[in-house]
Amino acid sequence: MPVRETTRGSRKTDLGGRYDLVICGASFAGLAVARQVADSGGEILMIDRYEVGERQTSACAIPTCWLEALDLLEAEAQRFGELVVHTPHRTVSMPLPWEFSTFDYPALCRLMWERSGVRFETAKVDGRTPGEEDGLITVETDRGGLSAPLVVDALGWRRILDPGMAVTPPGAPLSRALEVHPRGTSKDLEVWIEREYVPAGYGWSFPAGDEVRVGVGSFDPEYHVRKPTEALAGDLGVEAEAWQGNWIPHRLREATADGVFFAGDSAGHCYPLTAEGIRPAFYFGLALGALLADVLSGRSTRERALADYGRFSRSHALRYDGLLAAQRTLPRIPPRLLPSALGSLTDERLASRAFARYLDLAPPGFVRAIGRPATAGRVLARAA
Ligand SMILES: Cc1cc2nc3c(=O)[nH]c(=O)nc-3n(C[C@H](O)[C@H](O)[C@H](O)COP(=O)(O)OP(=O)(O)OC[C@H]3O[C@@H](n4cnc5c(N)ncnc54)[C@H](O)[C@@H]3O)c2cc1C
Repeated sequence: MPVRETTRGSRKTDLGGRYDLVICGASFAGLAVARQVADSGGEILMIDRYEVGERQTSACAIPTCWLEALDLLEAEAQRFGELVVHTPHRTVSMPLPWEFSTFDYPALCRLMWERSGVRFETAKVDGRTPGEEDGLITVETDRGGLSAPLVVDALGWRRILDPGMAVTPPGAPLSRALEVHPRGTSKDLEVWIEREYVPAGYGWSFPAGDEVRVGVGSFDPEYHVRKPTEALAGDLGVEAEAWQGNWIPHRLREATADGVFFAGDSAGHCYPLTAEGIRPAFYFGLALGALLADVLSGRSTRERALADYGRFSRSHALRYDGLLAAQRTLPRIPPRLLPSALGSLTDERLASRAFARYLDLAPPGFVRAIGRPATAGRVLARAA
Protein backbone atom coordinates (compact mmCIF):
# COMPACT_ATOMS: atom_id res chain seq x y z
CA MET A 1 0.00 0.00 0.00
CA PRO A 2 1.40 3.45 -0.85
CA VAL A 3 1.98 5.65 2.19
CA ARG A 4 -0.55 8.48 2.45
CA GLU A 5 0.93 11.90 3.06
CA THR A 6 -2.46 13.18 4.06
CA THR A 7 -2.85 15.07 7.33
CA ARG A 8 -4.01 12.55 9.91
CA GLY A 9 -4.48 11.96 13.62
CA SER A 10 -4.10 14.96 15.91
CA ARG A 11 -3.03 17.19 12.98
CA LYS A 12 -6.44 16.72 11.42
CA THR A 13 -8.08 19.91 12.65
CA ASP A 14 -11.68 20.94 12.08
CA LEU A 15 -12.14 23.09 8.96
CA GLY A 16 -15.87 23.58 9.49
CA GLY A 17 -17.27 27.05 8.86
CA ARG A 18 -18.26 29.53 6.21
CA TYR A 19 -16.36 30.22 2.98
CA ASP A 20 -17.12 32.18 -0.19
CA LEU A 21 -16.04 29.35 -2.48
CA VAL A 22 -15.24 25.70 -1.80
CA ILE A 23 -13.47 23.81 -4.61
CA CYS A 24 -13.75 20.05 -4.03
CA GLY A 25 -11.04 18.14 -5.91
CA ALA A 26 -7.49 19.37 -6.61
CA SER A 27 -6.71 17.62 -9.88
CA PHE A 28 -7.06 19.09 -13.40
CA ALA A 29 -10.55 20.61 -13.20
CA GLY A 30 -10.24 21.89 -9.62
CA LEU A 31 -6.80 23.40 -10.25
CA ALA A 32 -8.07 25.16 -13.40
CA VAL A 33 -10.88 26.74 -11.36
CA ALA A 34 -8.34 27.79 -8.69
CA ARG A 35 -6.12 29.39 -11.37
CA GLN A 36 -8.93 31.69 -12.48
CA VAL A 37 -10.26 32.80 -9.08
CA ALA A 38 -6.80 33.51 -7.65
CA ASP A 39 -7.09 37.29 -7.27
CA SER A 40 -10.82 37.67 -6.86
CA GLY A 41 -10.92 38.15 -3.13
CA GLY A 42 -13.09 36.23 -0.72
CA GLU A 43 -12.42 33.21 1.43
CA ILE A 44 -11.58 30.32 -0.92
CA LEU A 45 -10.79 26.76 0.14
CA MET A 46 -9.72 23.90 -2.13
CA ILE A 47 -9.83 20.37 -0.70
CA ASP A 48 -8.85 16.88 -1.80
CA ARG A 49 -8.51 13.61 0.05
CA TYR A 50 -4.84 13.47 -1.04
CA GLU A 51 -2.08 16.07 -1.09
CA VAL A 52 -1.85 18.06 -4.33
CA GLY A 53 -0.32 15.81 -7.02
CA GLU A 54 -0.03 12.80 -4.67
CA ARG A 55 -2.19 10.36 -6.69
CA GLN A 56 -1.78 10.36 -10.46
CA THR A 57 -5.14 10.03 -12.19
CA SER A 58 -4.09 9.43 -15.81
CA ALA A 59 -1.38 8.64 -18.37
CA CYS A 60 -0.90 12.41 -18.56
CA ALA A 61 -0.76 12.98 -22.31
CA ILE A 62 -2.00 16.33 -23.64
CA PRO A 63 -1.55 18.52 -26.74
CA THR A 64 1.73 20.39 -26.11
CA CYS A 65 0.10 23.70 -27.05
CA TRP A 66 -2.06 23.42 -23.90
CA LEU A 67 1.02 23.07 -21.69
CA GLU A 68 2.43 26.12 -23.47
CA ALA A 69 -0.77 28.14 -23.11
CA LEU A 70 -0.92 27.40 -19.38
CA ASP A 71 2.82 28.07 -18.98
CA LEU A 72 3.36 24.54 -17.69
CA LEU A 73 6.15 23.30 -19.98
CA GLU A 74 8.32 22.89 -16.86
CA ALA A 75 6.34 19.74 -16.11
CA GLU A 76 6.73 18.23 -19.60
CA ALA A 77 8.30 14.75 -19.72
CA GLN A 78 8.44 13.89 -23.44
CA ARG A 79 7.16 15.22 -26.77
CA PHE A 80 5.84 13.44 -29.90
CA GLY A 81 5.29 14.54 -33.50
CA GLU A 82 3.42 11.44 -34.67
CA LEU A 83 0.99 8.82 -33.41
CA VAL A 84 1.71 5.17 -34.21
CA VAL A 85 -1.52 3.13 -34.50
CA HIS A 86 -1.32 -0.67 -34.54
CA THR A 87 -4.16 -2.69 -36.07
CA PRO A 88 -4.18 -6.48 -36.56
CA HIS A 89 -3.23 -6.11 -40.21
CA ARG A 90 -1.03 -3.03 -40.40
CA THR A 91 0.74 -0.36 -38.37
CA VAL A 92 0.00 3.21 -39.40
CA SER A 93 2.09 6.28 -38.48
CA MET A 94 0.03 9.45 -38.43
CA PRO A 95 1.86 12.76 -38.62
CA LEU A 96 0.41 15.14 -36.03
CA PRO A 97 -0.07 18.77 -37.11
CA TRP A 98 0.44 19.69 -33.46
CA GLU A 99 2.57 17.83 -30.96
CA PHE A 100 1.53 15.74 -27.99
CA SER A 101 3.38 15.73 -24.66
CA THR A 102 3.40 13.54 -21.62
CA PHE A 103 3.99 15.29 -18.31
CA ASP A 104 4.88 14.71 -14.68
CA TYR A 105 1.62 14.73 -12.70
CA PRO A 106 2.92 15.87 -9.27
CA ALA A 107 5.05 18.62 -10.85
CA LEU A 108 2.18 19.96 -12.96
CA CYS A 109 -0.36 19.92 -10.12
CA ARG A 110 2.01 21.59 -7.66
CA LEU A 111 2.92 24.31 -10.18
CA MET A 112 -0.75 25.09 -10.79
CA TRP A 113 -1.60 25.13 -7.10
CA GLU A 114 1.40 27.24 -6.04
CA ARG A 115 0.68 29.81 -8.72
CA SER A 116 -2.99 30.04 -7.77
CA GLY A 117 -2.19 30.92 -4.17
CA VAL A 118 -5.51 29.31 -3.15
CA ARG A 119 -5.62 27.77 0.36
CA PHE A 120 -5.54 23.96 0.19
CA GLU A 121 -6.38 21.37 2.86
CA THR A 122 -6.71 17.60 2.72
CA ALA A 123 -10.24 16.44 3.53
CA LYS A 124 -12.44 13.61 2.34
CA VAL A 125 -15.79 14.69 0.92
CA ASP A 126 -18.68 12.51 2.05
CA GLY A 127 -21.57 14.39 0.41
CA ARG A 128 -23.71 17.47 0.91
CA THR A 129 -26.57 18.29 3.24
CA PRO A 130 -29.86 18.49 1.32
CA GLY A 131 -31.01 21.94 0.20
CA GLU A 132 -29.55 25.27 1.30
CA GLU A 133 -29.62 27.37 4.43
CA ASP A 134 -29.43 31.17 4.02
CA GLY A 135 -28.13 30.67 0.47
CA LEU A 136 -25.32 28.40 1.67
CA ILE A 137 -24.59 24.84 0.54
CA THR A 138 -22.88 22.61 3.09
CA VAL A 139 -20.27 20.08 1.98
CA GLU A 140 -19.85 17.28 4.51
CA THR A 141 -16.23 16.22 5.02
CA ASP A 142 -14.20 14.24 7.53
CA ARG A 143 -12.94 17.62 8.80
CA GLY A 144 -16.32 19.23 9.34
CA GLY A 145 -19.09 20.89 7.35
CA LEU A 146 -17.91 23.52 4.84
CA SER A 147 -20.62 26.06 3.96
CA ALA A 148 -20.44 28.39 0.97
CA PRO A 149 -22.71 30.01 -1.61
CA LEU A 150 -20.33 28.77 -4.34
CA VAL A 151 -19.41 25.09 -4.41
CA VAL A 152 -17.52 23.24 -7.16
CA ASP A 153 -17.50 19.45 -7.55
CA ALA A 154 -14.26 18.58 -9.40
CA LEU A 155 -14.14 15.19 -7.68
CA GLY A 156 -14.12 13.01 -10.77
CA TRP A 157 -16.59 10.50 -12.25
CA ARG A 158 -18.52 9.74 -9.01
CA ARG A 159 -20.20 13.19 -9.01
CA ILE A 160 -20.38 13.02 -5.24
CA LEU A 161 -22.17 16.33 -4.69
CA ASP A 162 -25.18 15.37 -6.81
CA PRO A 163 -27.03 12.74 -4.77
CA GLY A 164 -29.86 12.94 -7.34
CA MET A 165 -27.71 11.30 -10.00
CA ALA A 166 -26.56 7.79 -9.22
CA VAL A 167 -23.39 6.99 -11.16
CA THR A 168 -23.03 3.30 -10.40
CA PRO A 169 -20.72 1.11 -12.48
CA PRO A 170 -21.00 -0.99 -14.49
CA GLY A 171 -24.53 0.14 -15.44
CA ALA A 172 -23.69 3.85 -15.93
CA PRO A 173 -22.25 5.24 -19.20
CA LEU A 174 -18.64 4.79 -18.17
CA SER A 175 -15.53 3.32 -19.76
CA ARG A 176 -12.93 1.55 -17.66
CA ALA A 177 -9.16 1.99 -17.97
CA LEU A 178 -6.13 0.58 -16.25
CA GLU A 179 -2.43 1.13 -16.77
CA VAL A 180 1.01 0.25 -15.43
CA HIS A 181 3.98 2.61 -15.07
CA PRO A 182 7.16 0.52 -15.38
CA ARG A 183 10.63 2.02 -15.80
CA GLY A 184 11.67 2.08 -19.44
CA THR A 185 12.09 4.31 -22.44
CA SER A 186 10.61 4.59 -25.92
CA LYS A 187 10.44 7.29 -28.55
CA ASP A 188 6.92 6.47 -29.84
CA LEU A 189 3.42 7.45 -28.76
CA GLU A 190 1.57 4.23 -29.61
CA VAL A 191 -2.02 3.02 -29.71
CA TRP A 192 -3.38 -0.51 -30.36
CA ILE A 193 -6.83 -1.02 -31.89
CA GLU A 194 -6.78 -4.78 -31.61
CA ARG A 195 -9.61 -7.02 -30.42
CA GLU A 196 -7.03 -9.41 -29.07
CA TYR A 197 -6.55 -6.88 -26.25
CA VAL A 198 -10.01 -5.32 -26.04
CA PRO A 199 -13.14 -5.80 -28.22
CA ALA A 200 -14.27 -2.16 -27.89
CA GLY A 201 -11.54 0.26 -26.91
CA TYR A 202 -7.79 0.54 -27.32
CA GLY A 203 -4.44 -0.05 -25.70
CA TRP A 204 -1.63 2.49 -25.41
CA SER A 205 2.01 3.03 -24.59
CA PHE A 206 2.82 6.61 -23.63
CA PRO A 207 6.50 7.10 -22.77
CA ALA A 208 7.35 9.79 -20.23
CA GLY A 209 11.10 10.15 -19.86
CA ASP A 210 12.32 7.16 -17.87
CA GLU A 211 8.93 5.43 -17.51
CA VAL A 212 6.34 4.13 -19.94
CA ARG A 213 2.62 4.26 -19.24
CA VAL A 214 1.07 1.14 -20.75
CA GLY A 215 -2.64 0.52 -20.45
CA VAL A 216 -5.93 -0.65 -21.90
CA GLY A 217 -9.29 1.13 -21.92
CA SER A 218 -12.65 -0.49 -22.64
CA PHE A 219 -15.72 1.46 -23.78
CA ASP A 220 -17.73 -1.48 -22.43
CA PRO A 221 -17.79 -1.13 -18.62
CA GLU A 222 -18.46 -4.87 -18.22
CA TYR A 223 -15.19 -5.82 -19.91
CA HIS A 224 -12.31 -6.18 -17.42
CA VAL A 225 -8.99 -4.76 -18.54
CA ARG A 226 -6.49 -6.12 -16.01
CA LYS A 227 -5.50 -9.21 -18.04
CA PRO A 228 -5.32 -7.28 -21.35
CA THR A 229 -3.07 -4.70 -19.66
CA GLU A 230 -0.79 -7.49 -18.41
CA ALA A 231 -0.80 -8.99 -21.91
CA LEU A 232 0.13 -5.70 -23.60
CA ALA A 233 2.88 -5.01 -21.03
CA GLY A 234 4.15 -8.58 -21.59
CA ASP A 235 4.14 -8.12 -25.38
CA LEU A 236 6.13 -4.90 -24.95
CA GLY A 237 8.59 -6.60 -22.60
CA VAL A 238 7.93 -4.32 -19.61
CA GLU A 239 6.92 -5.18 -16.05
CA ALA A 240 3.23 -4.93 -15.12
CA GLU A 241 3.90 -2.80 -12.03
CA ALA A 242 2.82 0.51 -10.47
CA TRP A 243 -0.85 0.12 -11.40
CA GLN A 244 -3.40 2.89 -11.60
CA GLY A 245 -6.86 2.95 -13.10
CA ASN A 246 -10.32 4.38 -12.93
CA TRP A 247 -13.74 4.70 -14.50
CA ILE A 248 -14.08 7.35 -17.21
CA PRO A 249 -17.44 8.95 -18.09
CA HIS A 250 -18.21 8.90 -21.81
CA ARG A 251 -21.39 10.94 -21.84
CA LEU A 252 -21.82 14.64 -21.16
CA ARG A 253 -23.80 15.36 -17.96
CA GLU A 254 -25.51 18.52 -16.69
CA ALA A 255 -22.80 20.91 -15.47
CA THR A 256 -24.90 22.30 -12.60
CA ALA A 257 -27.32 20.69 -10.14
CA ASP A 258 -29.02 22.11 -7.03
CA GLY A 259 -26.71 25.13 -6.90
CA VAL A 260 -23.46 23.12 -7.32
CA PHE A 261 -21.07 23.57 -10.27
CA PHE A 262 -19.49 20.46 -11.85
CA ALA A 263 -16.31 20.44 -13.97
CA GLY A 264 -14.15 17.74 -15.53
CA ASP A 265 -15.16 14.09 -15.18
CA SER A 266 -17.93 14.94 -12.67
CA ALA A 267 -19.67 16.76 -15.57
CA GLY A 268 -18.80 14.05 -18.12
CA HIS A 269 -16.38 16.44 -19.85
CA CYS A 270 -13.89 13.69 -20.85
CA TYR A 271 -14.14 13.11 -24.61
CA PRO A 272 -15.77 9.87 -25.77
CA LEU A 273 -13.73 7.79 -28.27
CA THR A 274 -10.29 9.15 -27.31
CA ALA A 275 -10.87 9.27 -23.52
CA GLU A 276 -8.89 12.51 -23.52
CA GLY A 277 -10.04 14.15 -20.29
CA ILE A 278 -7.30 16.52 -19.15
CA ARG A 279 -7.71 19.19 -21.82
CA PRO A 280 -11.52 19.39 -21.39
CA ALA A 281 -11.11 19.41 -17.59
CA PHE A 282 -8.81 22.43 -18.00
CA TYR A 283 -11.08 24.07 -20.57
CA PHE A 284 -14.32 23.81 -18.59
CA GLY A 285 -12.50 24.45 -15.30
CA LEU A 286 -11.07 27.71 -16.67
CA ALA A 287 -14.48 28.76 -17.99
CA LEU A 288 -16.11 28.02 -14.65
CA GLY A 289 -13.31 29.76 -12.72
CA ALA A 290 -13.70 32.90 -14.83
CA LEU A 291 -17.45 33.02 -14.14
CA LEU A 292 -16.88 32.45 -10.43
CA ALA A 293 -14.25 35.20 -10.38
CA ASP A 294 -16.93 37.55 -11.68
CA VAL A 295 -19.25 36.51 -8.84
CA LEU A 296 -16.57 36.81 -6.16
CA SER A 297 -15.64 40.31 -7.28
CA GLY A 298 -19.27 41.44 -7.39
CA ARG A 299 -19.63 41.70 -11.17
CA SER A 300 -22.09 38.83 -11.43
CA THR A 301 -24.37 36.69 -9.31
CA ARG A 302 -24.39 33.00 -8.48
CA GLU A 303 -27.66 32.51 -10.38
CA ARG A 304 -26.22 34.09 -13.50
CA ALA A 305 -23.05 32.02 -13.25
CA LEU A 306 -25.12 28.83 -12.86
CA ALA A 307 -27.16 29.69 -15.96
CA ASP A 308 -24.15 30.82 -18.06
CA TYR A 309 -21.99 27.85 -17.15
CA GLY A 310 -24.78 25.31 -17.68
CA ARG A 311 -25.50 26.81 -21.10
CA PHE A 312 -21.82 26.94 -22.05
CA SER A 313 -21.30 23.27 -21.20
CA ARG A 314 -24.51 22.18 -22.96
CA SER A 315 -23.50 24.11 -26.09
CA HIS A 316 -20.86 21.41 -26.66
CA ALA A 317 -23.39 18.56 -26.62
CA LEU A 318 -23.46 18.00 -30.39
CA ARG A 319 -19.70 17.57 -30.51
CA TYR A 320 -19.82 15.09 -27.63
CA ASP A 321 -22.64 13.19 -29.35
CA GLY A 322 -20.52 12.98 -32.52
CA LEU A 323 -17.57 11.52 -30.61
CA LEU A 324 -19.86 9.05 -28.84
CA ALA A 325 -21.25 7.93 -32.21
CA ALA A 326 -17.67 7.38 -33.44
CA GLN A 327 -16.89 5.45 -30.23
CA ARG A 328 -19.82 3.14 -30.98
CA THR A 329 -18.82 2.75 -34.65
CA LEU A 330 -15.13 1.93 -34.13
CA PRO A 331 -15.65 -1.60 -32.72
CA ARG A 332 -18.02 -2.40 -35.61
CA ILE A 333 -15.40 -1.75 -38.32
CA PRO A 334 -14.11 -5.14 -39.49
CA PRO A 335 -10.40 -5.38 -38.52
CA ARG A 336 -9.35 -5.92 -42.16
CA LEU A 337 -10.87 -2.52 -43.05
CA LEU A 338 -9.23 -0.64 -40.17
CA PRO A 339 -5.94 0.09 -41.97
CA SER A 340 -7.71 1.77 -44.90
CA ALA A 341 -10.05 3.66 -42.54
CA LEU A 342 -7.04 4.94 -40.61
CA GLY A 343 -4.76 5.01 -43.65
CA SER A 344 -6.33 8.24 -44.92
CA LEU A 345 -4.86 9.92 -41.84
CA THR A 346 -1.34 9.14 -43.04
CA ASP A 347 -1.97 11.79 -45.69
CA GLU A 348 -0.60 14.98 -44.18
CA ARG A 349 -3.36 17.24 -45.51
CA LEU A 350 -6.21 15.01 -44.33
CA ALA A 351 -4.54 14.37 -40.97
CA SER A 352 -3.99 18.09 -40.55
CA ARG A 353 -7.68 18.83 -41.15
CA ALA A 354 -8.96 16.02 -38.91
CA PHE A 355 -6.62 16.82 -36.03
CA ALA A 356 -7.27 20.57 -36.33
CA ARG A 357 -11.01 19.91 -35.92
CA TYR A 358 -10.32 17.72 -32.94
CA LEU A 359 -8.08 20.35 -31.30
CA ASP A 360 -10.79 22.91 -31.95
CA LEU A 361 -13.04 21.13 -29.44
CA ALA A 362 -11.02 22.98 -26.80
CA PRO A 363 -8.48 25.20 -28.55
CA PRO A 364 -5.44 26.48 -26.64
CA GLY A 365 -6.33 30.08 -27.59
CA PHE A 366 -9.16 29.78 -25.06
CA VAL A 367 -6.64 30.13 -22.22
CA ARG A 368 -5.72 33.65 -23.28
CA ALA A 369 -9.26 34.66 -24.15
CA ILE A 370 -10.53 33.58 -20.77
CA GLY A 371 -7.56 35.21 -19.00
CA ARG A 372 -9.54 38.40 -18.42
CA PRO A 373 -12.29 37.59 -15.93
CA ALA A 374 -14.09 40.90 -16.61
CA THR A 375 -14.99 39.62 -20.07
CA ALA A 376 -15.72 36.02 -19.07
CA GLY A 377 -19.44 36.23 -19.77
CA ARG A 378 -18.95 37.60 -23.27
CA VAL A 379 -16.14 35.18 -24.10
CA LEU A 380 -18.28 32.24 -23.08
CA ALA A 381 -21.31 33.49 -24.96
CA ARG A 382 -19.16 33.77 -28.11
CA ALA A 383 -17.59 30.35 -27.56
CA ALA A 384 -21.04 28.77 -27.14
C1 LIG B 1 -5.80 4.88 -16.86
C2 LIG B 1 -6.23 6.22 -17.37
C3 LIG B 1 -5.41 6.91 -18.25
C4 LIG B 1 -5.81 8.16 -18.76
N1 LIG B 1 -4.95 8.83 -19.60
C5 LIG B 1 -5.29 10.06 -20.05
C6 LIG B 1 -4.37 10.81 -20.85
O1 LIG B 1 -3.25 10.38 -21.13
N2 LIG B 1 -4.78 12.03 -21.30
C7 LIG B 1 -6.01 12.55 -20.99
O2 LIG B 1 -6.30 13.67 -21.43
N3 LIG B 1 -6.87 11.87 -20.21
C8 LIG B 1 -6.55 10.65 -19.71
N4 LIG B 1 -7.42 9.97 -18.89
C9 LIG B 1 -8.67 10.63 -18.49
C10 LIG B 1 -8.35 11.68 -17.39
O3 LIG B 1 -7.55 11.05 -16.40
C11 LIG B 1 -9.59 12.25 -16.69
O4 LIG B 1 -10.56 12.61 -17.64
C12 LIG B 1 -9.15 13.47 -15.87
O5 LIG B 1 -8.28 13.04 -14.83
C13 LIG B 1 -10.34 14.21 -15.27
O6 LIG B 1 -9.86 15.24 -14.44
P1 LIG B 1 -10.72 15.72 -13.18
O7 LIG B 1 -9.94 16.82 -12.55
O8 LIG B 1 -12.12 15.96 -13.57
O9 LIG B 1 -10.80 14.44 -12.22
P2 LIG B 1 -9.64 13.60 -11.54
O10 LIG B 1 -8.35 13.81 -12.22
O11 LIG B 1 -10.18 12.21 -11.40
O12 LIG B 1 -9.53 14.24 -10.08
C14 LIG B 1 -10.48 14.08 -9.08
C15 LIG B 1 -9.85 14.53 -7.77
O13 LIG B 1 -10.84 14.41 -6.74
C16 LIG B 1 -10.29 13.78 -5.61
N5 LIG B 1 -11.35 13.06 -4.92
C17 LIG B 1 -12.12 12.06 -5.40
N6 LIG B 1 -13.02 11.67 -4.46
C18 LIG B 1 -12.81 12.46 -3.37
C19 LIG B 1 -13.43 12.57 -2.08
N7 LIG B 1 -14.45 11.78 -1.70
N8 LIG B 1 -12.97 13.50 -1.22
C20 LIG B 1 -11.94 14.33 -1.58
N9 LIG B 1 -11.30 14.25 -2.76
C21 LIG B 1 -11.74 13.33 -3.66
C22 LIG B 1 -9.21 12.84 -6.18
O14 LIG B 1 -8.23 12.56 -5.20
C23 LIG B 1 -8.67 13.66 -7.35
O15 LIG B 1 -7.58 14.47 -6.97
C24 LIG B 1 -7.05 8.73 -18.37
C25 LIG B 1 -7.87 8.04 -17.47
C26 LIG B 1 -7.47 6.80 -16.97
C27 LIG B 1 -8.35 6.09 -15.98
